Amino acid sequence: MADKRVFLSLPRLSGEEQKYIQKALTDNWITSGGPNVNDFENDLKAYHGNDVFVAALNSGTSAIHLALILLKVKSGDEVICQSMTFSASANPVLYQGGTPVFVDSEKETWNICPERLEIAIKARIAKGKKPKAIIAVHLYGMPYKVDEIHAIADKYGIPVIEDSAEALGSHYKGKKCGTFGTFGIFSFNGNKIITTSSGGALITNSQQIKEKAIFYATQSKDEAVHYQHSEIGYNYRMSNVCAGIGRGQMEILNSNLESKKQIHSFYVDLFKHINEVAVFENINSDYDSNYWLSTILIEPTQNINRDILLQAFEEANIESRPLWKPMHLQPLFCNYPYYGDKVSEDLFNKGLCLPSGTNLTDSEKARIKTVISKLFKNS
Ligand SMILES: *Cc1c(COP(=O)(O)O)cnc(C)c1O
Repeated sequence: MADKRVFLSLPRLSGEEQKYIQKALTDNWITSGGPNVNDFENDLKAYHGNDVFVAALNSGTSAIHLALILLKVKSGDEVICQSMTFSASANPVLYQGGTPVFVDSEKETWNICPERLEIAIKARIAKGKKPKAIIAVHLYGMPYKVDEIHAIADKYGIPVIEDSAEALGSHYKGKKCGTFGTFGIFSFNGNKIITTSSGGALITNSQQIKEKAIFYATQSKDEAVHYQHSEIGYNYRMSNVCAGIGRGQMEILNSNLESKKQIHSFYVDLFKHINEVAVFENINSDYDSNYWLSTILIEPTQNINRDILLQAFEEANIESRPLWKPMHLQPLFCNYPYYGDKVSEDLFNKGLCLPSGTNLTDSEKARIKTVISKLFKNS
């Protein structure tokens, strides 16, 4: 019989989710918003330090969209966005009729490059278009160069939306990712560090802004007995049933983070004598990635390259995937301005995401090891 498929990252349940979902069902509170949503927000607030305010939403994408709305990004406005990311970072700029301006990565964190960012800002200002926001991403959980990026953003007075969709539990200089920007966003999609099936959150440092986010997320209802609206509204609030899953998931967040680190160590060990492969790691102790996905770069040689490795895993029924394809190379986004060279393109050509599920078993690790030993038997 063929071996069962090993997936990149499947959800793991704590077992406590049922209790909170059951409460939603028993209370007949089966709608958007509600007690589980408030409690889940409080869990996230407690986790991130009580000076943050959290709005729980139905996805990370809607959190980014609301951040842009709250920053008053309108049709024709420009927003700088890290090119190497998932399309959900950039799509909301288009929802607002804005123009995304893409910036390349640097090689150390794979995230937005400070030098290229400043070049881009200066160039856009010279064209009379000062960017309204910067969307910076902690890709695969690796913090971007927080000090450098925020120093530039501050110098030009441009707010940062910190896409922490993949970085719940990551730290930079001991501070949690998601708390550096004007807005932080998280995703609780099925493949992320914790899940609510589908869900997201917006993090701000102001109670008032949190309330405004919830106002927009619940159809912008003005205060009145009847339905009265003076602004565009959205249906972006988290459901009380989904938040129940989130409450149960918060109980294993720390254990998930521990597992992700162990899986990363497994790969570091697995590849330590293989010169063609570099495991993506924290560059120094300022960085503390949650290692949401363990990723590698494969330096192509005559016998080996990324696609050969991917194929070998596939033949063993093990899922692996190329890194995110940069936005400036996407058919949808390739005609928007791009500031950079080929750093992200090179990462895309050489990079591979490896199975990193918190439920990865020893026998699955052994199968991964077998694929690698066969492929690199001469290394
Ligand atoms: C998952 C993800 C998102 C979007 O989150 P959803 O909850 O799926 O909408 C945004 N940015 C990045 C980098 C992501 O990985």
